[in-house]
Amino acid sequence: MPTNPELTIAWLPDLVYDGSEFQSGVALVCDPAGTIIKIARADELTDEKRINLPRRAILPGLVNAHSHAFQRVIRGKTEFRSSARADSFWTWRELMYSAATRLTPEDIYDASRMAFLEMALGGITAVGEFHYLHHTPDGTPYDDPNLLAREVIRAAIDVGVRIALLRVAYARSGFQVDANPRQARFIEREAPVYLKNLDALARSVRVENDALPDGRASDSVWVGVAPHSVRAVPLDYLRVIINHANELNLKIHMHVAEQPAEVSACVTEYGRTPVALLESEGLLSDRFTAVHAIHVTPKAIGAFAKTGAMVCACPTTERNLGDGVVPADEYLKQGVAISLGTDSHTQIDLLEDARELEYHLRLQKLERAVLNGPSTREPGASDIASVLFDCATINGARSIGARGGELSAGKPADFFTVDLDDPAIAGASCDDLLAAIVFSASRVAVREVVVGGKPVVSEGRHLIQEEVVERFADLQKKLWG
Ligand SMILES: [Zn+2]
Repeated sequence: MPTNPELTIAWLPDLVYDGSEFQSGVALVCDPAGTIIKIARADELTDEKRINLPRRAILPGLVNAHSHAFQRVIRGKTEFRSSARADSFWTWRELMYSAATRLTPEDIYDASRMAFLEMALGGITAVGEFHYLHHTPDGTPYDDPNLLAREVIRAAIDVGVRIALLRVAYARSGFQVDANPRQARFIEREAPVYLKNLDALARSVRVENDALPDGRASDSVWVGVAPHSVRAVPLDYLRVIINHANELNLKIHMHVAEQPAEVSACVTEYGRTPVALLESEGLLSDRFTAVHAIHVTPKAIGAFAKTGAMVCACPTTERNLGDGVVPADEYLKQGVAISLGTDSHTQIDLLEDARELEYHLRLQKLERAVLNGPSTREPGASDIASVLFDCATINGARSIGARGGELSAGKPADFFTVDLDDPAIAGASCDDLLAAIVFSASRVAVREVVVGGKPVVSEGRHLIQEEVVERFADLQKKLWG
């Protein structure tokens, strides 16, 4: 389609990351709809509207593949050791439930907006929201059974971050486990009820004017299917909803092997580990992302590789909860792609998740530079920063079904800038800038964030930051006193 040059925009930073290296003297040229036309030499520009970004480097927006936005409200509330018992994932979960059972729809909007705002400030431009709060606190559905999902979507739209609403199926507390009343807001016991609500949500996010050629309705909001775990969704239910997702070409996300207790309960119920169960039932595919996938066997890693399934690691959460270490080296060796998520939002900094993926393995193996990936340096070498940055961008986009993740023609203009004079990265050469950003930059180095060609963060400030923070502070006071 010919574009009107008067309406095209040329972003002119010092450097642009093209997926393999930083280029200087170039512009990122975007059409009025927010799609990248090309990376052009600055001296080839004609009458595009120019936006100069001195002392900045542009990088593709980060993609956060696993989030529970409302969990932002328990940040700081769980960092104590009780005297009575050992603390674990399961004691943390009780506190999370105490928040989950009390939030109103408006509270969920405010908490989600806070989480998404912090994501945007850190360069995240798309999120996969693993959403499991559906009903009123006593378990009765709202008149609109997707009211809470829509509050989360509204929050993402208002902040300006793209969202895959991965609607969670949660049928039971667990195999031979008594119902937990604190899970009443999550439960949809029957697969047909879940599918009816999923389809209603998919219809409601369809934006006629925003139709894309690949058949997905909206570029900024879409839905996916998220069976919570093998613990919470029995096999017959799982089969029905995964088949449905496959028919509609929807992404499927599922917590898999986060905790040893989940694996042993699955073996007790089915005589197979979670991954063996999924594989033997034909439920793994290239649309499937296994979130965490920590406690797995080499055979399980082979099953992901064979089917094209991906893994989403959430290292800042996994270290906080004492979950264990994702065997990322083994996954990469077998060609399993890894995306990243900020999950419980103890910290929202996807580059920290990226570096922890490597660092946890260094601590475990007493080695440096563990992860394997291609390198331009020498045959057999591995460029760790570029492996990790791909996890935070391209792989995340693939996992949640976003179109972005890289800066090339036809992709959305979703990107962030870093200040080349930021003290954490100052002095880096073009060759080591990516490593400086991945291993050493903090959020303050992120200065502009643009989604679909529209600025959402300028000079390190989000456009609605004050209001979002104020409303969130009021919510925390109401919840916790
Ligand atoms: Zn999770």
